[in-house]
Amino acid sequence: MKIDIVSVFPEYFDVLNLSLFGKAQAKGLVEVTAHNLRDWTHDVHHSVDDTPVGGGAGMVMKPAVWAECLDDLLGLEPATVTPSSNNSNTSVAATTDATASVPSTANADAAPEGTDIAASEESNAAPVNTTADANADASDAPAAPVSAVPPASDRPVLIFPNPSAPLFTQRDATELSHADHLLFGCGRYEGYDARIPAYYRAQGVDVREYSIGDYVLNGGEVAVSVMLEAITRLLPGFMGNPESIVEESYTGEGALLEHRQYTKPAEWRGIRVPDVLLSGDHGKVDRFRRDEALARTDEIRPDLIAKLDCAALSKPDRKT
Ligand code: SAM
Repeated sequence: MKIDIVSVFPEYFDVLNLSLFGKAQAKGLVEVTAHNLRDWTHDVHHSVDDTPVGGGAGMVMKPAVWAECLDDLLGLEPATVTPSSNNSNTSVAATTDATASVPSTANADAAPEGTDIAASEESNAAPVNTTADANADASDAPAAPVSAVPPASDRPVLIFPNPSAPLFTQRDATELSHADHLLFGCGRYEGYDARIPAYYRAQGVDVREYSIGDYVLNGGEVAVSVMLEAITRLLPGFMGNPESIVEESYTGEGALLEHRQYTKPAEWRGIRVPDVLLSGDHGKVDRFRRDEALARTDEIRPDLIAKLDCAALSKPDRKT
């Protein structure tokens, strides 16, 4: 899986060289490049933000800079100009450097006049790597000038973390783990100009916006790290033991919370593990764990119970 990340702090993603993600890079399973958004600026201060239209506190990320960067990384604009000398993208993977692509200096702030953002703001509806037709709103969106558009199957899925977007779930992680190429854009300040996702949806790009929870972070870097880890650990070969992702919270039978976990010793500081787990009867253990998963989910996340797949739950016990 190829992963590009755009941030004003690309060094943040150096951490991806560690642990299982570092190993996955070394194995060639994932190929990550973190780009500095400021490399697509042309002013002396490399500024990426401006004051909010309509007033208010803080700054908003400018569409023009993002557009130059995204056109480039999405292959939506032919590169026509020599790259700027401050192009210092951080290549996280030792062997990979997507910076060979050339930042264009053409004014990419080209959202067609009269674009109705609300109309083209269908949230995260298209499946991974589908054609523009799958973007439900594409027909509503005004025609926009596009040149050299790569085939949809070659195009990355463009993902923006956003606290006011739909919640990112295990289902999204599973779906996105089938994509060949993901492109993440990290917001900062008060966020990014809303025309950016609207414009790229109108170009037929599969654009997703996700929140990772009901709280506000300083920037998208943490949110991207969270999503990236949830997605990539599902890639075949990523985990040391592939079994460990089969029975987990939010996964499999009805997507419940997982049962409690224990290790040895059987008694620790006066607290015993449930006897049934020591019985050696796998059928009983399975039933106990499933009942506990149901009870915990009902208590902690009743919203998940409401979405239960009862057919899946009535499956016979695992044969072990
Ligand atoms: N003004 C925005 C609001 O109130 O919704 C908050 C902007 S936040 C300070 C800056 C950036 O951090 C966002 O554009 C987004 O990329 C990221 N971010 C913050 N909280 C997030 C969350 N819960 N989920 C996903 N991204 C988040």
